[in-house]
Amino acid sequence: MKIELHRKIEGTIKTLAIKREGRNYYAVFTTINDIKVPDVENTNPVGIDLGLDSFVAMSDGTKIEKPKFMRQKRKKIAKWQRIVARRKRGSKRRNNAKQRLQSAYTEAANQSDDYLHKLSTQLVNSGYTSFAVEDLRIQNMVKNHRLAGSIQDASWNRFIQMLSYKAESAGLRIEKVDARNTSKTCSNCGNIQEMPLSERTYICNRCGMSKDRDINASINILHRATTLGQRGSHAQGDMASAIQQESKSRIEELRTDKTHPLRDAVIA
Ligand SMILES: [Zn+2]
Repeated sequence: MKIELHRKIEGTIKTLAIKREGRNYYAVFTTINDIKVPDVENTNPVGIDLGLDSFVAMSDGTKIEKPKFMRQKRKKIAKWQRIVARRKRGSKRRNNAKQRLQSAYTEAANQSDDYLHKLSTQLVNSGYTSFAVEDLRIQNMVKNHRLAGSIQDASWNRFIQMLSYKAESAGLRIEKVDARNTSKTCSNCGNIQEMPLSERTYICNRCGMSKDRDINASINILHRATTLGQRGSHAQGDMASAIQQESKSRIEELRTDKTHPLRDAVIA
C-alpha cells in the first residue's frame, strides 16, 4: 500500500496502527529509539511568559507573535457551527455540514500542532540552556479563561508539553514556576503594582523602569526559577504523559500542510 511519508521514521518500529478519521486514513508508527541525553551546563537560561499580545515573550527580549491562522480557523469553525445549527435535523445537508465542521476542527488542530512543533524545536535549538515557564496548573489559567478562551489554553498546554520533552532529550532543564503576580511585579526592583490588561508597558512607580508588559513578566519568571535553586528538572515527571500525547500528535503531523506559510516561522 502506498503511503505519503511526512517524516523519516527513526528507531525500530514496534507497532503500526491504521487509523481512519473522516475520509482520511493515517498510519501511526510507534518506534523505540535510544536517546543519549547530553550534559549541558546552564549558562544561558531564559524565562518564557505566555503572553497576551504575543504568543510567548522571553526574558532576552524576544517576542513571538500569535499565528494569524488561529483566528481564521476559529472563524471557519464558527461558520460551520452556524450552518449545522440552521439545517434540519437528520437531513442530508445537515450531515454534510457536520462533516465540513469536523474537518474544520481537524484542520485547526493540525495547523496549530504543526506550528507548536516548529516553535518548540526552534527554541530548543536556539542556544538556550534552560527554560523557566509558568506552571499552568498553579496558575489555573484564570487569566486566560477571561481572555482568549480554551483554544489558547490548550495550545499553551501543548506548547509547554512539547518544549518539555524536547528540552529534556536535549539535556536542557525545564523549570516550572508559580507565575502569580509576575505581570504586576517590577523585574528591576521587585515593586508590586496593579497592571490592568490595557496596560501594555510596565512603568514602575518606584524605580521608573519601563518595559514591555510580557517581557517584564518573563524576566520575573526567570528570576523565580533561579531563586528556586537546584530543585531539579520538573520535566521528568511530565515525560511519560508528553510522550503519550506525542504519539497522538504524530497522527496529526502526518497530515500537516507542507506549504503552510508559518512552517518556518522566524523568531523575531
Ligand atoms: Zn521598579
